[in-house]
Amino acid sequence: EFHKSKGQHILKNPHIIDSIVQKSGIKSTDVVLEIGPGTGNLTAKLLEVAKKVIAYEVDPRMVLELQRRFQGTPQASQLQIVQGDVLKQDLPYFDVCVSNTPYQISSPLTFKLLSHRPLFRAAILMFQREFAMRLVAKPNESLYCRLTVNTQLLARVSHLLKVGKNNFKPPPKVESSVVRIEPRHPPVQVNFTEWDGLVRLCFSRKNKTLGAIFKQNACLDLLEKNYRKFLQLEASGAIAGPAAGGSEGEGMDILDQKRLGITDLADRSKFKDYVLGILKEGEFGDRRSSKLNQDDFLELLARFNAAGIHFR
Ligand code: SAM
Repeated sequence: EFHKSKGQHILKNPHIIDSIVQKSGIKSTDVVLEIGPGTGNLTAKLLEVAKKVIAYEVDPRMVLELQRRFQGTPQASQLQIVQGDVLKQDLPYFDVCVSNTPYQISSPLTFKLLSHRPLFRAAILMFQREFAMRLVAKPNESLYCRLTVNTQLLARVSHLLKVGKNNFKPPPKVESSVVRIEPRHPPVQVNFTEWDGLVRLCFSRKNKTLGAIFKQNACLDLLEKNYRKFLQLEASGAIAGPAAGGSEGEGMDILDQKRLGITDLADRSKFKDYVLGILKEGEFGDRRSSKLNQDDFLELLARFNAAGIHFR
């Protein structure tokens, strides 16, 4: 008896299981992190190719079943079973992750893996088809969204395999796909709070021009509030401004050109021109989020930050 709430649709087609293992590129020296092993159909195949499998399973009944299945087999010593919710665990070192978990946790699981250090080589993940297609989407495609740029900022993602519902028992309501995620080496250097703030704003209306989004009062209110906070922090010496590092003379020049005095903030139109000027300088004003890739967003963030405009 399986629990729908735990997403217990067991993968029963051996060809799909073989294909997942083959495409995962696991080497005999690899430590594999398996998430959601269930009854262990995939686990058995992973044990044939990996040095070690560490399997996280939340359901104690499944853990028992796994223990019974592998106890006394030659592979028992290669398998470590951890009972618990993978999202709440500190993950160990691993080279490759293979996961087949309920689709409600797709997003938090993806970002948990991508923030894990040291970086792993690849993750082979079963997802709902639409979620998978969002991860691999390219600018201009209809599924291209905030999830896409957030993921592609941190990793290369490719679609490996379509898996129809009938390969599972019981069949889920939705179609599935297996994707491969390879973290970018070295990881991108960016403040994620800033990044997320910018990308959320830009994708609030992904088909509007950035110029149209940034001239809205709600957006300017937020940026102005952050800007005041930034000026105060900088004045108090808590953070270094864009002029830091240069000689004093140069620093003053940047201050004069790039920044408004705090009094000028009383005039909304000046602040608006300032923000729109930054967009224009980078030729972003007429562009739309649906057509920008992660490097474009990184450039845009760098331009705003250099001018003291922040998104946190
Ligand atoms: N991988 C197995 C297979 O293909 O036969 C079973 C997959 S089944 C779709 C998902 C498994 O993930 C279930 O056994 C479920 O108990 C487990 N699971 C669900 N949420 C989990 C979580 N947060 N952490 C770890 N395991 C979880």
